[in-house]
Amino acid sequence: MTETATDHDVLVVGFGPTGAVAAGQLGRLGHRTLVVDRLTDVYDKPRAIALDHEIFRHLDNMGLADAISPHVEPFTASEHFGVDGQLIRRIDMVAKPYPLGYTPSMVFSQPAVEAELRRHATSFSNVKAELGVELVDLVQSPDRVEARLKGADGRHRSVTVRYLLGCDGASSTVRQIAGLGLEDLIFDEPWLVVDMRVNESALANLPQCSAQFCNPARPVSFLIGPNNHRRWEIMLLPGEDARQMEQPEQVWKLLSPWLTPQDGELWRAASYRFHALVAENWRNGRILIAGDAAHQQPPFIGQGMCQGLRDATNLVWKLDRVLTGTSSEALLDSYTVERKPHVIELTGRIKAIGQSICERDPAAARRRDAQALADGGGKPLLMTRQGSFRRCARDS
Ligand SMILES: Cc1cc2nc3c(=O)[nH]c(=O)nc-3n(C[C@H](O)[C@H](O)[C@H](O)COP(=O)(O)OP(=O)(O)OC[C@H]3O[C@@H](n4cnc5c(N)ncnc54)[C@H](O)[C@@H]3O)c2cc1C
Repeated sequence: MTETATDHDVLVVGFGPTGAVAAGQLGRLGHRTLVVDRLTDVYDKPRAIALDHEIFRHLDNMGLADAISPHVEPFTASEHFGVDGQLIRRIDMVAKPYPLGYTPSMVFSQPAVEAELRRHATSFSNVKAELGVELVDLVQSPDRVEARLKGADGRHRSVTVRYLLGCDGASSTVRQIAGLGLEDLIFDEPWLVVDMRVNESALANLPQCSAQFCNPARPVSFLIGPNNHRRWEIMLLPGEDARQMEQPEQVWKLLSPWLTPQDGELWRAASYRFHALVAENWRNGRILIAGDAAHQQPPFIGQGMCQGLRDATNLVWKLDRVLTGTSSEALLDSYTVERKPHVIELTGRIKAIGQSICERDPAAARRRDAQALADGGGKPLLMTRQGSFRRCARDS
């Protein structure tokens, strides 16, 4: 088909990590890219805290390693404690030399890294970013997509593009308008996520490793983030009101085994329902979705954002070939075919890990503890982080 002129080659909806990486890669390849986000700035609280060596390699290939390194640190070992508070498992880094040449697991500061991803994308003169601009509607025809945008001033305008990429997060407008339904991978749990900036003097009183407190009365994850950032992910119990549990007095009660209000700044406390969902199809003609718009998974091994960055990288080289006429549009069909099974497989492993560490039945939790110690020859089992992903899936 002969392409008619459009305002841009690609519209990226959403300037979160997935959209920023997609826009940066499209920019480097010379495509006329418009990226819009309805927020006027980077979301200033971290959601993702962990990334892995494969993702760091993607970012390094984009020329971003130096810019993001100040905001990234190695992931500490994680210790898992059983029903009676005993150490049952210790998960550490694989030994050097590291398989991909980078630290295999890392923690990072999401707002700072996202700001670098945006800076990179907008460093290309062919990438235009508009903040405070919301996609409200879209219509596709055989040779283009017409997107209706609402500006910060409330005014509407239309732009035409050859392809539209929905990186607009979990409640994606693009996914809904394109009629791309979600499959439920069956996971639905309420959790409270608490981020603290801990005072220097109180850091030594906290665990020096990340930890999973696999107590069936209330499973809790403790994560050591960069600098003085510490995170607690706390399962909410049946009957607890999520909004009420976010209130500072409730949060301090939950943190009382570790900290008092004098020990640091409560950065944020937010309750989430952790879901496992995947879009049935990730493409409808000239409309494609990526990142949380295409899938959501519980954060137990820190892979949600990583999956979105894999989506963007898988898709952009294909879009490049189609936009330059090197490949036919059929190449884009391989995007869902390649990415969806990977997301489903990884989500299955994440669920298996979650089910093991978050066992609520005390008898089953004791069996889990006994098995872990038996696997370690009567001592806490020592594993590598990447090895633990494989093992939990196999044992489930
Ligand atoms: C508690 C928690 C912990 C997590 N931990 C990890 C972790 O350790 N590691 C990891 O890899 N992942 C983790 N994740 C997941 C990770 O945060 C997400 O997968 C990631 O942020 C998704 O990025 P995204 O760009 O796809 O979507 P988002 O970050 O949601 O960005 C979507 C953007 O689209 C914009 N937008 C939405 N609708 C419109 C519209 N109509 N028009 C214009 N703009 C629009 C939004 O304003 C937003 O900026 C965690 C998530 C949570 C909740």
